[in-house]
Amino acid sequence: VHESGPLAEVMQLEQGSVPQPAAGEVRLKVEAVGINFADVLTVTGEYLTRTKYPYHPGMEFAGTIDALGEGVQGFGVGQRVACLAGRGGLAEYAVVPAVTLVPVPESFSAAEAAAFPVSFFTAYHALKTLGQGKEGEWVLVQAAAGALGTASIQLARALGMRVIALASTPEKLEIAKKLGADVTILQDDPERVEKVRAAAGGKGVPLVLEVVGGKRFQESLDMAANRGRIIVIGNASREQASLRPVELMKRNLTVTGLWLTSLMADAEATAEAVKGVTPLIASGQVKPQVGPVYPLEQSAQAFQDILDRKTTGKVIIEP
Ligand code: NDP
Repeated sequence: VHESGPLAEVMQLEQGSVPQPAAGEVRLKVEAVGINFADVLTVTGEYLTRTKYPYHPGMEFAGTIDALGEGVQGFGVGQRVACLAGRGGLAEYAVVPAVTLVPVPESFSAAEAAAFPVSFFTAYHALKTLGQGKEGEWVLVQAAAGALGTASIQLARALGMRVIALASTPEKLEIAKKLGADVTILQDDPERVEKVRAAAGGKGVPLVLEVVGGKRFQESLDMAANRGRIIVIGNASREQASLRPVELMKRNLTVTGLWLTSLMADAEATAEAVKGVTPLIASGQVKPQVGPVYPLEQSAQAFQDILDRKTTGKVIIEP
C-alpha cells in the first residue's frame, strides 16, 4: 500500500524476492494471515497511529519456520508458529524478529493459529487484567460474532462470567449463543439499553467491553451499573465519542483504555495473557473461531467485507 484511498485501489500485489533472515530473525513460509479491524483502518489511514508508507499489511499471521537467522534459540525449522510482527504478513514469505513469534498448540490448523493471538490476548486483558472480571459477574460483549467478540464470549464463560452479547443481525446473535452467551440482544433493538440493564438484574452491567465508539459510547455508559468498568477497546463506528467526566463521578464509573500493541511492549503483560489463555486453549475450553477464508489475490475484498460488517469470526487470508 503506497497511499491511503479506496481499498481495491490502494491494495495491490507486488512481486518481491524471498527475504533472508538476519541475526535474531526467522523466515516464515506464511500459511494464514488473520485480519483484524486494525489492519483495515491502517490501510484506510484511520488507525491510532499514522500509517507509514509503503505499508505492507498483515499484523498477525501463522506459518512454518523455514530459515533461522544467527542466534535464534527455542525455535526450529519446520515448526508452525503464530507471529505478531505488526505488519508484513500478506506475503508468501515473511522475515520477522524471533521475539514476535507466539508458540501455538500442535493441534491448531494454520488458520486457527493465525486467528488466535490478537483476539484472545486482547479479550483476556479486557476481561481480567484491566477489567478485573469476577466469577458470576455479568459482562457486555459488543460485535459479539466478530473475531474479538467470539474470543471474549468464550473466555468470559471459561472464567465463570455471564455474558450479554450485542450484534447487528439474528445470525450473528445465533453464533454468540452457540459460543455460550447467556443473553443476546440486537445492536439496533430500540429498547437495547433497557434490555441490557434488565438482563443484568435490573442494575446494569458491571463490566462493558466497548468496541463501537461514536454515539454508542454513551450507551455503553448507560448500560453500565453503578461502579461499572467500561473497557474502551475499539472504535468500529469510526465516529468521535464524547465523555463528560461528571457523569463518571455521578455513577462511580471507571473508563479504561486498552491497546494490545502498547500492552504487549511490556513483557509482564504478555506473559500474563499467555499464562491466562494457554491452559484454556489446551483444555479445549476456548477455540479460535475461523471465519471466511480468502486467497491473497482477494485481500482487498476481505478487508472491505470486514468494513461492511459482512464477516463473522476471524477473517483469514491464505497466501
Ligand atoms: P470484528 O471481526 O469484530 O469486525 C468488526 C465488527 O465491528 C463488525 O463485524 C461489526 O459487528 C462491528 N461494528 C459495529 N459498528 C460498526 C461499524 N459502524 N462499521 C463496521 N463494523 C462495525 O473485528 P475485530 O475483532 O478485529 O475488532 C473488533 C473491535 O475491537 C474493533 O473496533 C477493533 O479495532 C477492536 N480491537 C482493538 C484491539 C486493541 O488492542 N485495542 C485489539 C483487537 C480488536 P456487528 O455487525 O455485529 O455490529
